Order: sequence, then C-alpha cells, then structure tokens
Amino acid sequence: MKRRAFLQTAVAGAMSAAMPARSIWAASSEINSNIDAIKLNGDSTVIEKAVAAEFEAALNGHVILPSTEGYDAARASWNGMIDKHPALIVRCVDASDVSSAVNLAREYELLTAVRGGGHSVAGKSNCEGGILIDLTEMQAISVDPEARSAKVQPGVLLGGVDVATQKFGMATPAGVVSHTGAAGLTLGGGFGKLSRVYGLTADNTRYFDIVTPDGEFRRANVSENPDLFWALRGGGGNFGVVTQFEYQLHPVGTDFLTGALVFPLEKSEAVLNFYADWITTAPKELQTSIAAICLPNGKGFINMSIFYAGDPAAGEKVIEPMRAFDKPQRDDIAVKKYIDLQKRTDRNVPHGQQYYQKAGFMKTIEPGLVEAAVSTLNNPKPFTQTVNFTQVGGAISEIDMGATAYANRDAAAQVVLGGSWRKKVDEQEEWIELIRADWKKMYPYTNGFYINNMMGDEGDARVRANFGSNYDRLVELKNKYDPMNLFRLNANVRPTV
Ligand SMILES: Cc1cc2nc3c(=O)[nH]c(=O)nc-3n(C[C@H](O)[C@H](O)[C@H](O)COP(=O)(O)OP(=O)(O)OC[C@H]3O[C@@H](n4cnc5c(N)ncnc54)[C@H](O)[C@@H]3O)c2cc1C
Repeated sequence: MKRRAFLQTAVAGAMSAAMPARSIWAASSEINSNIDAIKLNGDSTVIEKAVAAEFEAALNGHVILPSTEGYDAARASWNGMIDKHPALIVRCVDASDVSSAVNLAREYELLTAVRGGGHSVAGKSNCEGGILIDLTEMQAISVDPEARSAKVQPGVLLGGVDVATQKFGMATPAGVVSHTGAAGLTLGGGFGKLSRVYGLTADNTRYFDIVTPDGEFRRANVSENPDLFWALRGGGGNFGVVTQFEYQLHPVGTDFLTGALVFPLEKSEAVLNFYADWITTAPKELQTSIAAICLPNGKGFINMSIFYAGDPAAGEKVIEPMRAFDKPQRDDIAVKKYIDLQKRTDRNVPHGQQYYQKAGFMKTIEPGLVEAAVSTLNNPKPFTQTVNFTQVGGAISEIDMGATAYANRDAAAQVVLGGSWRKKVDEQEEWIELIRADWKKMYPYTNGFYINNMMGDEGDARVRANFGSNYDRLVELKNKYDPMNLFRLNANVRPTV
C-alpha cells in the first residue's frame, strides 16, 4: 500500500520535471537489506528492502546509506559539533527526486531534514535516524540580465550567486560568507551588505518552486499560491522543499567603497559606544558591522567594517566621523571588488570547527549591552570568543511587518555572541555553559532573534513570540500545507489540526 502510493506520485513527479539530471555522486549504495529508520514521533520503523531498492531505481540521484562509502562526508555539517546519523541520505538532482523523497518521508512518517548549503549552526539540516533530503547537487544557476533575474537551485552557495550575477555587474542582496547556502538563508530572510538599500534576500525573491508535503510541485509568487509566497519569505523550511528560487537582480556595479578600521581589543568599550551612537544616523547606503575577537590568551582586536552602496566619493564623506573617532591600528578602506569582499571573511569561519552561538536583534544598542559585550571580551575563555554586530534596518524596515512572514523588520542591528574551537573536546558542555552565561547578560537588551541563527534551544514559546503577529497566519498555512508537521526541523510552526 505504502509502496504504491509513493511510486505513483514519483512517476507523476518525473513527468513534470524538466530534463532529468544525473548525479555526480561516485559511490552508489547497494540496497540489500531493510532500512531501519526513526519516525516523526520517535518510534522505529522499517523501509522494506524492495521498497527502498525501487525508490532508488526511480531516482536520478542516489541514496546514501551508513554502509555507503563517503557516508560520513555526506552527513557532515558546516558546524563540526553536529554529529547526526541519518538512516538514509537522498542526494536529489532534480525536482522529481525531491518529490519522490518527500513522498517516501510522508508515507513512512520519517523524521525529515532538508539540506541546502548545510550551514544551519544548530544542525537542523541533518537528523538522527531519519531521512536527509540533500540538495547539494542541485547546482544550476542562470542569469537573465535583460529581465534582471537569476534562477538558482537550492544547492547553490552564495559565492555561486555572486560570481554568476557580478559577470553582468548585478547582485541580489544576500549574506557575507560565500560558502553559506542560498536556500536556507533566503527562506529565513537573508541579509547582507546590500540589504539596507534593497531589502532581504526573501524580499528579492520573485518566485519559489516548491515540492509541498503532499509531494506536489507548486510555484509561489504574487499570483500563484500567494499565501505560500507570503509564508516562504521568512517562514523558514516549514512548508516543503524549495527546488528553485528566482531572484530579482540590481545593476549595482562591481566596485564599492569598503573595508575596516581595526582597533586593539582594549578599546572595545569606546569603539562600541561610538558605533552604537553612529549607526542611529547612518544613511541606508552605509552598512556597517563590528567583529570583536578575543583569543584564549586574551589577545584580540575589534574591527569596524563599512560598505557603501553608492558613489565612493559620497561614501568617503559619510565615513569621515568614523575615521576621526580614533586612530586605528589599520585602515584598509578603499574601493574594492564586491566579489572579493564577499569572500573576505570565509576563512575565519571554516567548515568542521566546533561552533556555538547566541544571537538577538535590537532597535538600539543600549549601554548595558555594550557593558555586557565588553565584560565578555575582557574575560578570556579556553576558546575563541567573538562578538559581532551587524547593522540591518534601512530598506528591510520600510516593508510592512505583515507583508511577509519575516517578522523582525523593526530591528536596527543584530548581535551574535559566538564561541569556536577546532576539535571536539571533553569540556564541550562546560564551554557552552560559559557562552550561555555571558549571553544571559546580553539577552535582556535584545528583542527577538533571526531564525537562521537559532541554536535550537530557544523553545517553542520564543519561536512563537518571535514571529509576533505573523504567527497565527503561519499556523493557518501550516495547517493547510503541512498538517502532519513533516517539516519540523526548523523554527517550527506547529500545526493545530
Ligand atoms: C558562516 C556563516 C555565515 C552566515 N552569514 C549570514 C549572513 O551574512 N546573512 C544571513 O542572513 N545569514 C547568515 N548566516 C545564517 C544562514 O542564513 C543560515 O545558516 C542558513 O540556514 C544557511 O542556509 P543553508 O542552505 O546553508 O542551510 P542548511 O543548513 O542547508 O539549511 C538550514 C535550514 O533551512 C531549511 N532549508 C534549506 N534548504 C531548503 C530548501 N531547499 N527547501 C526548504 N527548506 C530548506 C531547512 O529547514 C534547514 O534545516 C550565516 C551562517 C553561517 C554559518
């Protein structure tokens, strides 16, 4: 019964998919036994050998099992702290594969994770014992400069989007680390250097092609499934698996005034106080951030970065007060290539290290928050500590809170308190507690959080509060599209039916 149900839809899926792709995955799993898996409710289940073999035969991609060569590499996340063992990884190469995987997951009520670029710090894009719908190989991207649009598959990383669009002197606003996945970032909102002028990545998404939990292919845009279009712009992975995004591009050019002023860590209080004040009057063309780093030996620095999305000469004038504030150790502000800038911090956050973080938005950076941040930075830990402030606001705040599911539009900045260490250590839990203790002092000065920076220990009540007045509508849509809550490994909106 189960078998017939998922195969029927898989065939329908195959028919409606364009040009099947072929997987680049070298190893192929031989399914010669049943697959033991975990269900959504935590119970065990078995996918019968014949069903699994037939499922794989119908795929253009591959199934990767714990016994398959390369399984460990395939299950690895950006955050090395995540060590989850899915029962099967479905390496999809097209929308038809995604539909088949969703049907299998639904029919067997499998615990289901979805992976784009694999950067979920909390490890939500992997699961223990369930099915991992892996989109890594869906790498197509095409740019239409006339239409000012880019069609992007969900395995594409931000660096890929920037390279493809900058060839035409264009860009869409997105994040600042080139190895981050476009998919997860867009669904949670997505912001970066251009967002104060052009809005969130989600605000610049013209349509989403999605396989909903019923296995059907849908397009969500202003005229087709507008309710889903609303929900996908900030509602995270709650509503299915997106197989293609179309982004709006802007003819921004390729060169910008950008760079950083670097100060010794001892000056962090003065720098942060200046920054807190300065961002309140910054024009929206200016996007700024702070990165303060304290190493285990107590050494470190504080970096005040700028990006000016306009005429560099005008930008030079705007940043005069910043340059006059104090003499930095280093000033590398100059006109630079956007494409280089977008890779600038990649190596500071490599794959495979252990990362833990807490994050929150705020409307103003209160003196108490500066005090808490400085006290953290002045108190070295056995690991590298970072305090980052990122300016948001501008065009993000010009859109009505109810216009899309993204609910933190009134924020002026985000603070992220992070700890990282190279390898797993026995003291890991204690170290995480140290970060939590420092966060307790910062948290009261925050107001909501970015769902893409969740650690997964926030709890349902905070997720609900974070979506604010948009939550009830999200529940309605969750009831409509995902009543069984198949897609729950995210900032979960629980259905009520
Ligand atoms: C180093 C680093 C830098 C970052 N910088 C920024 C930044 O500058 N700006 C910013 O806005 N964010 C930033 N983030 C946060 C980033 O937005 C999230 O980590 C986001 O989840 C990354 O997307 P991904 O595809 O890599 O995630 P994944 O880990 O693959 O997925 C995360 C979640 O997204 C959902 N998902 C992913 N793909 C799909 C899909 N195709 N269909 C449905 N659901 C899907 C799933 O729920 C999944 O659990 C950064 C994160 C890191 C680790």
